[in-house]
Amino acid sequence: MDILKLAGDPKFIPGIYNYCDRWCERCFLTSRCMTYAIDAEDNNDPSARDLNNRAIWERLHAIFRQTAAMLNKLASEMGVDLTPLDRESLLESLSYKIDEADNHELIRESHQYTQMADEWFESEYSIFEHKEDELNSLLGIGIDETKIHCEAHSIRDAVEVIRWYQHQIYVKLKRALTHSCFFNKEQEDVIFESDSFGSAKVALIGIDRSIGEWGKLHEYFPERTDSILDILVHVDRLRRRVEQLFPQARNFKRPGFDDI
Ligand code: SF4
Repeated sequence: MDILKLAGDPKFIPGIYNYCDRWCERCFLTSRCMTYAIDAEDNNDPSARDLNNRAIWERLHAIFRQTAAMLNKLASEMGVDLTPLDRESLLESLSYKIDEADNHELIRESHQYTQMADEWFESEYSIFEHKEDELNSLLGIGIDETKIHCEAHSIRDAVEVIRWYQHQIYVKLKRALTHSCFFNKEQEDVIFESDSFGSAKVALIGIDRSIGEWGKLHEYFPERTDSILDILVHVDRLRRRVEQLFPQARNFKRPGFDDI
């Protein structure tokens, strides 16, 4: 695979994969995404996922080499000199900032949310079994089949959406925080600043969608109002805090997704 050639293909939207939710199975822009094209090539070849296969390491090596070449080319086109970067102090500073982000309240709260969701699904597993039995008995007595299938689909979808974003919210917030505090005010670079807003936006989208789906579960399982409301209050507080810390996140234009 020639990444440089792929990168030059105008059908791909530059950087689209940086601010998506990585849910490729549900993405409507797969044909415009270079990452998807690269992954699709791997998926056609099962040996590409076998770590004992020498070819996989050679391929990775080629990808890194081509990426470095692309970076150098871009830097030279933009007149940026990459050589003076003090790698040691940069890594030290980055690792300090990652630790700092780890201790941030947003990270603690988003981590807590993933635990709350895990515990809820674990402890409430039986309500899904009961619901399945209930819907099957309704089907058995000839109640509106389409309505029953719609309800089953909607519940399954709500669980899939919540599960998909549950960990991603934390990951995206960590990236947003790490990049937003990586440079001090004098060194702040507009690219990194905007990257943190972009990552915060992806986290907010995950939060919004999760709130909507928890609301749906609440409708289907009103007997679990208390436990679902606890989670909703927690996530809504997280949402408001993210909006406060990253006020421009909602306006960030994600390549591809927000151009349509
Ligand atoms: S842009 Fe779409 S296809 Fe590409 S990585 Fe993101 S979700 Fe997957």
